[in-house]
Amino acid sequence: MKFNPEKCRIEDVPMQPFIDKDEIWDLINNTKSDREEVLAVINKSLNKERLTMREVAVLVNADDPELIEEIKKGARTLKERVYGNRIVLFAPLYVGNKCSNNCTYCGFRSTNKEAVRQTLNNPQLIREVEALEESGQKRLILVYGEHRDYSPEYIAESVRTVYKVKKGNGEIRRVNINAAPLDIEGFKTVGEAGIGTYQIFQETYHPDHYKRFHLGGKKADYDYRLTGLDRAQEAGVDDVGIGALFGLYDWRFEVLGLVRHTNHLEACYNVGPHTISFPRITDASGLDITDEYFVSDEEFTRLVAILRLAVPYTGLILTAREPESIRREVMSYGVSQIDGGTKIEIGAYSDTVNDDQNLNREQFMINDDRSLGDVIEELLEDGYLPSFCTACYRNGRTGEHFMEFSVPGFIKTYCSPNAMLTLAEYIMDYANDRVAKMGWDVIDKNIKDLEGKVQPRIIDQLKEKIELIKQGERDLYF
Ligand code: SAM
Ligand code: SF4
Repeated sequence: MKFNPEKCRIEDVPMQPFIDKDEIWDLINNTKSDREEVLAVINKSLNKERLTMREVAVLVNADDPELIEEIKKGARTLKERVYGNRIVLFAPLYVGNKCSNNCTYCGFRSTNKEAVRQTLNNPQLIREVEALEESGQKRLILVYGEHRDYSPEYIAESVRTVYKVKKGNGEIRRVNINAAPLDIEGFKTVGEAGIGTYQIFQETYHPDHYKRFHLGGKKADYDYRLTGLDRAQEAGVDDVGIGALFGLYDWRFEVLGLVRHTNHLEACYNVGPHTISFPRITDASGLDITDEYFVSDEEFTRLVAILRLAVPYTGLILTAREPESIRREVMSYGVSQIDGGTKIEIGAYSDTVNDDQNLNREQFMINDDRSLGDVIEELLEDGYLPSFCTACYRNGRTGEHFMEFSVPGFIKTYCSPNAMLTLAEYIMDYANDRVAKMGWDVIDKNIKDLEGKVQPRIIDQLKEKIELIKQGERDLYF
């Protein structure tokens, strides 16, 4: 077959695999990245136009330090122009680490006999959620190993439990899921519990390399995982997140794999993924992989900037696997969500599971273990507007990132005011005096920044709502 770099060789058909490894390598090997070409691609993205696979290949091939700087500068400009200064905060909650798969990079894998297997029972789950609420969290992602105990009904029930827990003024307003791919019926069951995003990471998009790291269990089936989010869409779960585990294979291939996955979902379901995650492998109990494809900090920061330009209207999620310094840098390229106050040992938020083997209850090591308060303080110091907003989801506005990107004025009319309202709640209920002072200053500054850019009634309503929050009302949004 003759290779046409603008058109994918595999036609997009719902529920059918869509990755052609030779196509991706053809693009990487046969695309030149001279200065003009790179600048033209960056400009196209800055004009809010969708990049093709070939154009993304131009960016991943740009090796010259000056061009890499241009790419990073482009990502920073896109972020400033389109997204502003909000960063949405969430926390992961590990529900259970039983696992029948054998992924060689993961501490939960079935052959890791060191791992202490735990599943939160209902009272433990409730205590974990209470502890998270007491620190100010509003958005969680529930994480599960892949095991017959974690059936769709079980996952749905844990989601319902989480939504019911209220502690003081605390409540969880959005529950996302990171769990194994399900069948269509299973996705329907979980969807009915009112989940936000269902995340499945492909880990590596390269089918042969995938086999090397997935030695047993259902996850060894590359195609079943690849088409997992198609089944979610077929089941009506239209808010999905994709991801690749960087360090398993060539990072350039994975970036193109993520873009190809985005194209596939757009072609088949008219909606791309809500979010993209790009975890880098960190040390884990019993980790059994070589460092052949490990991604350096320089490559990592570069790939985040490329992803921002490649899929400008998709949310980018960065986690505490990354150290503080890297988190700081890549946030400026347009990361939209980060976790704060993260603990990944089962039961660690409330210390509800007592044993002295904490290390063996976690899936991998994290590199940023600061409290939520400390993360918020740093965001405020750096001029960001921390947000716990869940308004779009609760108003039935799906595709929030797409709207942010494509509806003129959407961010200023909805996202920024809502971010300020959720920050005001956080200040009233959870912040210490120093963070409270910084927080109110940031809110004042952001209100001033809106003046003249939105209708005056929006500012009046925003100020009224903030007053109401000061008087004890909660959960106000636009
Ligand atoms: N068990 C489900 C699965 O595998 O899809 C969901 C939960 S799994 C605990 C969530 C993600 O953690 C995986 O998809 C993988 O990308 C990531 N992960 C596993 N081991 C890791 C490691 N050593 N370092 C960083 N991330 C890791
Ligand atoms: Fe199990 Fe997921 Fe870990 Fe694989 S990555 S061993 S499926 S928990």
